[in-house]
Amino acid sequence: TGILTTSFIILLILGFSFWFLIRTLLRQKTLEEIKSDFTNNITHELKTPIAVAYAANDALLNFNQAEEKTKRDQYLRICQEQLQRLSSLVEQILSMSMERRKTFRLHPEEVNLKELIVSLVEQHQLKADKPAQITLEIEPKTLTIVVDRTHFSNIISNLIDNAVKYSKERADITIRCRQTEQTVTISIADRGIGIPLDKQKHIFDKFYRVPTGNLHNAKGYGLGLFYVKSMVEKHGGTITVKSEPGKGSIFTITL
Ligand code: ADP
Repeated sequence: TGILTTSFIILLILGFSFWFLIRTLLRQKTLEEIKSDFTNNITHELKTPIAVAYAANDALLNFNQAEEKTKRDQYLRICQEQLQRLSSLVEQILSMSMERRKTFRLHPEEVNLKELIVSLVEQHQLKADKPAQITLEIEPKTLTIVVDRTHFSNIISNLIDNAVKYSKERADITIRCRQTEQTVTISIADRGIGIPLDKQKHIFDKFYRVPTGNLHNAKGYGLGLFYVKSMVEKHGGTITVKSEPGKGSIFTITL
């Protein structure tokens, strides 16, 4: 029985090691796949706007004076849009790597919430490629918070961008800010495509995108919410989501 028990234990250990090895290899493979998908996506996303902006610029250079102003304006607009796409991509990548540095520090200052959000909404309307109705409810109107202006602006911009991106033809968004004795809550609600319950726990993960999101042709890298969550937490806050497919989503930040 002694030999049998020893053999059984050895078999058990071997079995466990084998299972562990296979599991590690499989996990590494998916990580490798994610990395390579990401590189491919980024390369594609960088190349497309550059190529389009080049072509539009080329056409502009070859224009003769007599050609219509409207056509020229159209090419200029294309250049502008492509540059915006590039700059938002570069910004997301930079914010991510910056946040990982050990020397990373927030620079908190007192910010009037209404002024900040109104200016972010205006900026958004300027670059929007889809009509959006954005309603703002702030109580009290003079509400101020102490945050890092740049990062906090990025947090709100990301949430507004998503609310528009994951809405159908016309986005209907409500931003509500409320103050209680101890906290300030900021919620951004949309009536967009929503997020299935079983996917909600993953949306703050790096590179995660809900597969059905692509059906709506929404471009992205799955980095926005990862950045948002880590920045909210660096501010000592929390972020939660409530969502129902087909009805919409509400992201709530509590500081
Ligand atoms: P992405 O660049 O893909 O938009 P994010 O990290 O900002 O990356 O979001 C992760 C995923 O969460 C998105 O791909 C999308 O599937 C889902 N998502 C985020 N915001 C919304 C929203 N307001 N409505 C529906 N789905 C959303």
